[in-house]
Amino acid sequence: MLSDYLGALKNTPGDSAVYVLDSGKPGANMLITAGTHGNEIAGIMAAVMFVEHASVEAGRIIVIPCLNNPGIIASARLNIQTAKGPRYFPLGTRLVPAEHQGWEDPPAYFAPNSAAELPGYEQRNINRAYPGTEDAGLAQKIARAVMNVLETENINIAIDLHEAGPASGVAWHIVANPKNADIAALTILDLEEKNITMHIETSPSEMRGLSHREWGDRSNAAAFLVETVNPAQGDNYAPPPDPVHDPAFPLWRRVAVQLEAIRAIAENSKGKLSPQIEYSGLPDYAALEKGGLEPWF
Ligand SMILES: [Zn+2]
Repeated sequence: MLSDYLGALKNTPGDSAVYVLDSGKPGANMLITAGTHGNEIAGIMAAVMFVEHASVEAGRIIVIPCLNNPGIIASARLNIQTAKGPRYFPLGTRLVPAEHQGWEDPPAYFAPNSAAELPGYEQRNINRAYPGTEDAGLAQKIARAVMNVLETENINIAIDLHEAGPASGVAWHIVANPKNADIAALTILDLEEKNITMHIETSPSEMRGLSHREWGDRSNAAAFLVETVNPAQGDNYAPPPDPVHDPAFPLWRRVAVQLEAIRAIAENSKGKLSPQIEYSGLPDYAALEKGGLEPWF
């Protein structure tokens, strides 16, 4: 549990499951987080697929599928039809709900060490809270716990899974800490070979509190954020697009891109890692395009 890394989370809605997939063999340590924003469902489903299907052959993969647990437990439910019957996934909220944060929203929020003024509710955004602290609200505590995971588990590669609306400036992006931008660039070339077009951005210098920035600056991990497109996160659509079956942005494709991006990041990190990370058991893009998500859930 996340509370094993920060005791202050114990018996709070901020606690959530941390899955350690251990090959039992020497190797690198890869962290995958999803559900920082509970409405960004492709990342959550990709993370769950790792937990349920990945076979780790060298090193360890540590997965936190529902990081914003307080924004997920009270969520709407997404019904996915599978061969075994319906299965329900959370469709949560972007922010830690006000009733769980424990600290009232300030008039304006400044991320740690940042002069950039954000709306007060952004203090409940886990991805503006890094490196976090246990002496503030629940979002800050969750962020602190993730920093402790990075350090305690000696993480070498850390990947934060997100989604954005179609008009967002980071749609279909891999955002990388500048220290590992080379790995991100190689990753994008690999994805292009599979006809998956992603764009690269490095952590902006003026914005702080972001996972890729603070994880990479404050730990040994190469830090990345993968951003697929969720049509339901666009503004002012009526009726709102279906987050699962939208013809332009079907969920299977977004999950496939998340899995392919993780695969390519792991592969392209190998030159810098010793010992390495090896895993199998997950579908590639072509398999999900052909068979959909259903056989995997
Ligand atoms: Zn996000």
